Amino acid sequence: MTTLGTTPVTAVACPAWCSVTQGTHLRELRWEGRALHWSDARTGEGWEIRHTSASDADGHPIEIEPKVYVTTNSGLTLAGAEALALTLLATYEEAAD
Ligand SMILES: [Zn+2]
Repeated sequence: MTTLGTTPVTAVACPAWCSVTQGTHLRELRWEGRALHWSDARTGEGWEIRHTSASDADGHPIEIEPKVYVTTNSGLTLAGAEALALTLLATYEEAAD
């Protein structure tokens, strides 16, 4: 790393689960001062789960809290609800890692 902030950032340190392109992150850093990392969606019957965290270019967390997003279309079957619950726990563990 350079000691001065004058060298343009060319790569962002992402968590292993991040599915966002470097090009998008570099734009975010330029305009918003942080990169927002998004996981791939985990999906089931009638639901979808993704999670996010934000960092600076070096991958250090910044003031934005990591978040988990759960989307459902309508009522879930019991099997669907069980799958969502298990996947939500796995997503939480990945996001909290
Ligand atoms: Zn990322």
